[in-house]
Amino acid sequence: MGRLLVQKFGGTSVGSVERINAVASRVARFVERGDRVVVVVSAMSGETNRLEGLGFDIAKRPSPREMDMLLSSGEQASIALVAMALMEQGCPARSWLGSQIRIETDTNHTKARIENIDVAGVQADLDSGTTPVIAGFQGVTAAGEVTTFGRGGSDTTAVAVAAALEADECQIYTDVDGVYSADPRIVDNARLLATVTFEEMLELASLGSKVLHSRSVELTGKYGVPLRVLSSLTDPAEENPGTLITTEEQAMEQPLVAGVAYARDEAKVTVLGVPDVPGVASKILGPVGAAGIEVDMIVQNAGADGSADLTFTVRRADYERALEILREASGTVGARSVAGDDRIAKVSAVGMGMRSHAGVATRMFDALAAENINIEMISTSEIKISVVVAERYLELAVRAIHDAFELESPPSAD
Ligand code: ADP
Ligand code: ASP
Ligand code: MG
Repeated sequence: MGRLLVQKFGGTSVGSVERINAVASRVARFVERGDRVVVVVSAMSGETNRLEGLGFDIAKRPSPREMDMLLSSGEQASIALVAMALMEQGCPARSWLGSQIRIETDTNHTKARIENIDVAGVQADLDSGTTPVIAGFQGVTAAGEVTTFGRGGSDTTAVAVAAALEADECQIYTDVDGVYSADPRIVDNARLLATVTFEEMLELASLGSKVLHSRSVELTGKYGVPLRVLSSLTDPAEENPGTLITTEEQAMEQPLVAGVAYARDEAKVTVLGVPDVPGVASKILGPVGAAGIEVDMIVQNAGADGSADLTFTVRRADYERALEILREASGTVGARSVAGDDRIAKVSAVGMGMRSHAGVATRMFDALAAENINIEMISTSEIKISVVVAERYLELAVRAIHDAFELESPPSAD
């Protein structure tokens, strides 16, 4: 009996007619060997960016409902093309929108969360020997409104469908060979990880490694879906096991640092001269949260004169709005002024081994100091250390930290 696999193909993997045909022949090969495959696809590469750009050309703050309607169309095109390509290979196939399967979500447009999936139709396809091709990144509310899951959200569709079908494995095919110790586009000698624990992957993804959508990793942990990241660009005949996301018990080793992640699109805002009395932080942060702006790192410095400066980071897209809100809030609490910087970035080191080893932070800070990179903010947890630096130092910082923890791939034999 073959396996039940969910195979997800990202934008680059379906970026052209050739790539779509290559995806179809890869899937067909698994089906011919007796596996049942559910395909999940993203929009063709560049398409979601193009659509988003059009939205922002028309409106400074486009309606989230309309944005979902617009962005979800990218996947509608690619599922049809992939289904056609499969049929051309003699493999019966049928495309499905999120709303047709019924991937039901909450009503949070542009960042909806999946609440329920009905896999009956997809299961019926599988039972009749048809390969379902599902649109990633999109769902539907109970009231029938189209929603999307946030950029990169097709991974989450794949894991959610795999969980609902109790698939043997969810395979995320992308344009690199798996999960590396750092983005291989920034760090030339980054090492391909054969395994990474689910906890580490969750941190890496939420701290910016876009190889997996962080919500997809959350679902992997919650439902115990075996998850693998691998390349769609290699010859399918070649053995390419990629990276397996494992539980801690299965992990072969506990590296001090498994990987380095970065997030470029960050901004920081500071409210200066805040009266240092109870309740002020909540009066300042309350309206920011109420506007749906996510606040990440928060630092408060007490000044000598009984006042304090409150600094926190937000996504760059929320920067202008956060400043507006803070200018108002600072008046009500009697703060002196508001300042900000939208050219910052966050760099993080993640590893299970940090739990049992001291001195990790020092090693990271020394590496940054040696490159003359100023650390603007710091935040730590049991298995990660993050720093905020000026955006212009981002790549240098990632490489310096990668070197400091000796994460490079071993030199090849030739
Ligand atoms: P897809 O379109 O297949 O979903 P993405 O562009 O979303 O692909 O994710 C793959 C990209 O993630 C890679 O091309 C790589 O530049 C980037 N990336 C960032 N961090 C890592 C990492 N640690 N390991 C592998 N890839 C990474
Ligand atoms: N097409 C969507 C995006 O570009 C979803 C995805 O690729 O996962 O963000
Ligand atoms: Mg992606």
